[in-house]
Amino acid sequence: MKILYSFLLFAFASGEKFRFDNYTLYRIVPENVQQIKILQDLQNTDLSFDFWTDPLPTSEFVNVMSSPDKKTILEGFLNANDLKFEITMSNVQEAIDKENVKTYTRNSRSLTWDAYYQLNDIEAWMADLAATYPDIVTSFVGGTSYEGREIKGLKLSHGSGKRVIFIESGIHAREWITPTTACYIISQLLTSDDEEIMAAARNFDWYIIPVTNPDGYVWTHTDFRMWRKNRRQVTSTVYGVDLNRNWNSNFMAEGVSLNPDAQTYPGAGPFSEPETRTLSSFIRTIADSIDMYISFHSYSQLLLVPYGNTTDPLDNYEDAINIGRRAMGALSVRYGTQYVTGNIAEAIYKATGTSIDWVKESLRVPLVYCYELRDRGTNGFLLPADQILPNHLEVMDSVIELIHQAKRFGYMNSGSGLQASIVMVALIVLKFVL
Ligand SMILES: [Zn+2]
Repeated sequence: MKILYSFLLFAFASGEKFRFDNYTLYRIVPENVQQIKILQDLQNTDLSFDFWTDPLPTSEFVNVMSSPDKKTILEGFLNANDLKFEITMSNVQEAIDKENVKTYTRNSRSLTWDAYYQLNDIEAWMADLAATYPDIVTSFVGGTSYEGREIKGLKLSHGSGKRVIFIESGIHAREWITPTTACYIISQLLTSDDEEIMAAARNFDWYIIPVTNPDGYVWTHTDFRMWRKNRRQVTSTVYGVDLNRNWNSNFMAEGVSLNPDAQTYPGAGPFSEPETRTLSSFIRTIADSIDMYISFHSYSQLLLVPYGNTTDPLDNYEDAINIGRRAMGALSVRYGTQYVTGNIAEAIYKATGTSIDWVKESLRVPLVYCYELRDRGTNGFLLPADQILPNHLEVMDSVIELIHQAKRFGYMNSGSGLQASIVMVALIVLKFVL
């Protein structure tokens, strides 16, 4: 940690972009509980290794990034403990250079789905949509960041009184595939020629926030690509609180580290961070209207439901899982991409203070899901640009199927949706009668 963070401080002081030349990404495959325990000890004792995924009893693989000068130590450690590993990226900087960051201008007419964009480009695109579709699209501010940026979102609505689908994306800064996924969903809801997608656009009010952690996201572009947290100054030398451990739901109970240097440092207290405090207040103002809440993360190809502190099922656990599994079936159709569906504690790890737990527990939103998008450890956070569109297409398929299955299971039918179904049934009956 000391080496990594002293570089980090240098980067902070100098305003120079940190380079990951010859940093190596390992994919380690633990074969038993003892080996997982060994990796957990390494994660807790030597913070110089960046664990991209946590070693857990359910882990099929663990990704660890090493700086060039620590490679020999890491490989020696793995060999000494009989841990099988492969190098999936021998030079992390090379993968970063290939990420294809494009610039958006109004003449571009749209973002494209073969590139990643900076915050100001995404926000300019959002503003253009609000201007182009004034009857449907409204800009809203979901909250404020530590450095004073607005957390911007778009509301898509074809008339008042609809039930709400809320999408929160990009709360972890380095998970670049997530903001563009949210943007693609916005784009599809406005311009798709698929009738099912347009029906979903018309039948619900959509609140979509592509970049929930704007300070962190900017930092990943300007200074440090692998940044996860927000940019709060915690001590004189340490920055960042994990915004997805900071929500007021079983705060600090599981899956966090009290060391401010650690990636999962949850902050001084529940909602200590402006991002979570302001966004949660915003969500609360429309809580009664929300039928489904989706949070996008990467990576590992998982669909998670609350709660993160227990494997005890939540009230509608069976429904939530069945709806989710069917949606992941739809996701797999195009490219065969396999997602595992489960609750956080059983599928991934015990983690508390997450947005989806708070939304479920405090606001009683019926259906709450967290996606961990592509891939399964080959590229991790550095998903190549040629996988962006395939990811978006399969995720869009699954979101539509989530709605479809939710209705089959008796959810999301209230309000104007229900009225529409009654009208439809009446029309069908009339057709038979006449
Ligand atoms: Zn995440």
